[in-house]
Amino acid sequence: MAKFVFVTGGVMSGIGKGVIAASIGRILQARGFRVTAVKIDPYLNYDAGTMNPYIHGEVFVTEDGGETDMDIGTYERFLDINLPKSHNITTGQVYSSVIERERKGDFLGKCVQIIPHITDEIKDRILNISKETVDVVIVEIGGTVGDIESLPYLEAARQFRLDQGISNVVNVHVTLVPMLDVVGEQKTKPTQHSVQELRRIGVQPDVIIARSKIPLRSEPRKKIALFCNVEESAVFTSQDISSIYESPLLLDEQGLGTYLVNRFQLSKNTPDWSTWKKMLNSHLNPHGEATIAICGKYAELADCYVSVNDALRDAGAALDTKVDLEFIETDDFEKDPARVRVLSSFDGVLVPGGFGSRGSEGKIKAIEYCRTHDIPFLGICFGFQLGVVEYARSLGIEDAASSELNPQSSNHVIDLMPEQNNVLEKGGTMRLGAHEIFIEEGSLAQSLYHNQSVWERHRHRYEVNPNYISQLSSGGLRFSGKSDSNRRMEILEMPRNKFHFATQFHAEFKSRPGRPSPPYFGLIRAALTTKNPEITTEHLVAHKSRGSR
Ligand code: GLN
Repeated sequence: MAKFVFVTGGVMSGIGKGVIAASIGRILQARGFRVTAVKIDPYLNYDAGTMNPYIHGEVFVTEDGGETDMDIGTYERFLDINLPKSHNITTGQVYSSVIERERKGDFLGKCVQIIPHITDEIKDRILNISKETVDVVIVEIGGTVGDIESLPYLEAARQFRLDQGISNVVNVHVTLVPMLDVVGEQKTKPTQHSVQELRRIGVQPDVIIARSKIPLRSEPRKKIALFCNVEESAVFTSQDISSIYESPLLLDEQGLGTYLVNRFQLSKNTPDWSTWKKMLNSHLNPHGEATIAICGKYAELADCYVSVNDALRDAGAALDTKVDLEFIETDDFEKDPARVRVLSSFDGVLVPGGFGSRGSEGKIKAIEYCRTHDIPFLGICFGFQLGVVEYARSLGIEDAASSELNPQSSNHVIDLMPEQNNVLEKGGTMRLGAHEIFIEEGSLAQSLYHNQSVWERHRHRYEVNPNYISQLSSGGLRFSGKSDSNRRMEILEMPRNKFHFATQFHAEFKSRPGRPSPPYFGLIRAALTTKNPEITTEHLVAHKSRGSR
């Protein structure tokens, strides 16, 4: 029977609960246990697909085409597993299935209520996941204790421990311990209030993890233990660190792993951190440096490219290189085209995914500058589509466009996919998830992937218009990766450039610390060799990517 760790959050959001939940999983994995993770999002949306990433953070895409919360990405990277979309539970999904069953008459005669029907549905979903071959399920409840939306989930967690037995469920509460600037005192009152609120609902935390600038001092630790009714040895700190990948080690060193193993009565295996420490060292102590410009809109910048940022850093670490990222506003290139020259001071340029026309002409200018000045360029999804538009224009198709950007143009080199033409709904209707891509012999793509076929994840409505492929190819552009019996263009490369490469898919979703994504690896490697032409590239070989799901 599986063990369960429920992770709740107190005081405020954004304190890194996802990283802590993932770290707990990694601590158990280091001891040889099979771990999986679930994210509960108490909002009413069915999934994250219809949510604005510029407000809510990146929409992460799973192998099976789920549009999920970005914490699923954090779990995948920390635990090196692929999670299906059923691991992101939302209130929208829970209510939809209960109401659907009510309409079918499943509850005939009964009044359908939050307790027990909604809470049963929540518990069933978690129990179903525990039937996968796992030893421990980490369940992170999103939001902050005290939110109206999270109440049914906390109630379900309360019942869960009663149903499964105390030795099978551990409740972890993550809170913030702020410091008073003047005297540097660590204040525990917000934690006390948050735990009071949790206990009012009937959930007694076993473990408190305090987020704090510096390690918790002895006095506040004692206070938290006493007022929150938690053993002092079960109060841990998660202080500010330079890489999130330090977090599992930091918590394990304080005894969290030992605590969990004892509490769950699991075998006391010695943790093996050797590979993790090696990976961490490559992230913390790189020798080289590369500066990459991410060209987008300012509004897009913070959390909405988490996977892109991580993929660049994973690739950098594999090449013993610190990757400095700078966000460049492409609107500026539209207002003053000469400003695009700023890109010459970068070692590489990335144009990420995106939607809508604003800023897109600026992105096209950035791509053109990279192509004509041989600056290493990686385009992702929208960046790939704009790469095609840019190249078509350079061939003299002056009004080449994507129908998403300019419906009036008579040359839609990028157009809606046929199956998208009649789609009226917005949720879950894009081409989503992993599709198999076939890579051409002798291409740059093949030298990066070391494979003839790979599975990469998608999230798009538009694609290369097949009517323009021969014209684009005869101009020199090579479509080196295709899917769907060669109907869909997936990878483009420009052989006459050092690295002018773009993908219709989002390779960043499969990048892992210690096992970088080949296109991102290619960009950083090209950035390094451009910067130091004397560098030998023989040893800079990408890890063989996983060819199948
Ligand atoms: N807007 C483009 C499309 O829908 C690209 C999407 C993306 O970059 N994720 O096809």
